[in-house]
Amino acid sequence: MSEVDGSAFAPWPLTALDVPALRAAGRRPVPLRQFVLKVHSRCNLACTYCYIYQGRDRSWRDRPARTAAATMRRTAERIAEHVHRHELAEIRVDMHGGEPLMTGPGTVLEYADAVRSALPAGCTAHITVQTNGTLLTDRTLERLSAARIRVGLSLDGGTAALNSRRTDHAGRSSWPAASRAARLLADRPDQYAGLLCTIDLATDPAKVYHSLAALRPPSLDLLLPHANWSTPPPGLPTGAPRTARAVPYGDWLATVFDLWWDGRPDGPHLRIRLFTEIIALLLGLPSTTESVGLSPSAALVVDTDGAIEQVDSLKTAYEHAPATGLDVFHHTFDQALDHPGVAARQLGADGLAATCRRCPVVRVCGGGNYTHRYRVGSGFRHPSVYCADLEHLIRHIARRLDAALPSRDSVTLPDRGSFSQADKGFRS
Ligand code: SF4
Repeated sequence: MSEVDGSAFAPWPLTALDVPALRAAGRRPVPLRQFVLKVHSRCNLACTYCYIYQGRDRSWRDRPARTAAATMRRTAERIAEHVHRHELAEIRVDMHGGEPLMTGPGTVLEYADAVRSALPAGCTAHITVQTNGTLLTDRTLERLSAARIRVGLSLDGGTAALNSRRTDHAGRSSWPAASRAARLLADRPDQYAGLLCTIDLATDPAKVYHSLAALRPPSLDLLLPHANWSTPPPGLPTGAPRTARAVPYGDWLATVFDLWWDGRPDGPHLRIRLFTEIIALLLGLPSTTESVGLSPSAALVVDTDGAIEQVDSLKTAYEHAPATGLDVFHHTFDQALDHPGVAARQLGADGLAATCRRCPVVRVCGGGNYTHRYRVGSGFRHPSVYCADLEHLIRHIARRLDAALPSRDSVTLPDRGSFSQADKGFRS
C-alpha cells in the first residue's frame, strides 16, 4: 500500500466506507457548489503556522508553481459540465494559493475568464481571490474589480504585534504591506469579501477583535488552528477526561462573541461567520460552512497540475491526505463525489462517531471540522479534537440567544445527563 492511498492512516472512510453500497441504497451525492482553484502553489510569506507549507502533506513541492492555461481551460470545462448536469444557477469559485497574486493578477484574471466563458448561460459564478495582501495594489484591485472578482484578506489581527507569525522567508514582518492592503480594501466595500484570522491563544481576544473590526471588513472568519487527535492544537490538553478538560479555544471565542454581541446594534457592522452560523443552527436553519452543522460539504479543490483534491486543511493529517487520485484531464467532478473521503463529508450525522451521534449539541456542532476529527491509524470517525471547546461555545451562544429571545422561542439545549459514564470520559 502506498502513502497515496492513505488506508493505513485513515481506514475510515477510505476502506471502511462502501460508497457503491451507499449509492445502491439510494443515497445520492450532493452536487458541488464551491470550487477552490489553485492559481499559484508557492507563497512569498512563510507564516509559522501555515498548514500548507508546515503540514504533513508536502505534495506542493512536486506541482507546477503556476497553473498552466491548458489546466485552466480543462478545469473550466469540467466545472461547466458539472453545472450543466446538475442545472446549477450559481456557484462559488475561490482562487487560492500559495499566494494567488504571486505573479500579479494576470493568472487570476485568466482563470476567472476561462470559468465564466465556459459556464452555460443562466449560471452565475461568484469569484473571490484569497490573498495575504502583501502584493495588492490599487491597480490590481482595479483590474480585479473590472472582472467582478472580490478579495479576501488573511490577517491574524489589526496590529503588527498580532501578526508576528506572518513573516516572509527572511523573517521580515508582512504587516506594513498587509495593512496597506487592508486600508485599500476598506475603501472598496463592494469588493471586500472579508478577513480570515487564525486563532492564536497567546493573543488577547479583545485586542484581536477590536483591531480587526477597526479595519472595517464586511465579514470575519475566526478559524481554529488545523489540528487533530494525533497532532493536537497548541495549548489544548487532550489527555484529560472530557469533563475535566480545559476549553481555552472555547473561552477565547466566547470572549469575542460577548464583545460582538454586546456591541450590537451600535457596534461595527461585522458578520462573524462562526457566530452567525451557530446562531442560525440554534434557530433551526441549515449551516453553510463545514466548520459546524450537519450540511453536506459541496466543495472541492483543483490544484495547479489539475489534480482534484479534497479540502486543503487535510494536509495537516498525513502525506497526500487531500488526494483523490483523480484529475480534471481524465475525470469528472461527479466521479470525485464518489471518492470515500468526499462521500464521507456528505453523510451528515451518519458520518459521525457514535459519541457525536448521541451528543446533545450534535445538530449545531456537527462534529466540528472534518479535518479536526482525525487520529492516525483509524481516521476521521472521531469527535473533533476541539469537542469540549465547541460545546462550551455553542452552549454559551445558546444562553446569550435565549436571554434575548421571547420565552416561546427558547433555544435551550439538552444537557449531557443522558450520556453514559463512558461517554463522559471519552478521549476521542
Ligand atoms: S460537541 Fe463533541 S461530541 Fe458533540 S457533536 Fe461536537 S465534537 Fe461531537
